[in-house]
Amino acid sequence: MRVGIGYDSHRLIEGRKLILGGVQIPFEKGLLGHSDGDALTHAIIDAFLGAAGLGDIGGLFPDTDPRYKGANSLSLLKKVVSLVNEKGFQIINVDSTIIAEAPRMAPHIPEMRKRLSEVLRTDAINIKAKSNEKMGAVGRGEGIAVWAVGLIEEI
Ligand code: MG
Repeated sequence: MRVGIGYDSHRLIEGRKLILGGVQIPFEKGLLGHSDGDALTHAIIDAFLGAAGLGDIGGLFPDTDPRYKGANSLSLLKKVVSLVNEKGFQIINVDSTIIAEAPRMAPHIPEMRKRLSEVLRTDAINIKAKSNEKMGAVGRGEGIAVWAVGLIEEI
């Protein structure tokens, strides 16, 4: 078995959709990014790339590449699952923590888990959410950060 860690953060700005785990969450701001800004999915991607020794999301999907402008991050994750499988591993589980002062994530977590499980082909997906207790940039609501760990095993 091999484990990997992933971290991502994006700035919250007006005029963008807020998408996490492939779910559009009603909020007055959204995450700035070259792709759809889905920080949860990006952290999960980096966790599995790390576990498989495949580098990182920036190397695989450069933000200078116009193909990834506005990209659906779940489709990027799908590509990563294929690469992990091609390297001889299968996905075991993922655990993650979203750090956001607002909005409340809890009502949306079941749908995030469902969307992610369709791509990762496992139900062993855990998503936690917490505030940053008003500390620092995330605590001031300037952005959202996510940590994730992913486990894989040789097929
Ligand atoms: Mg990102």
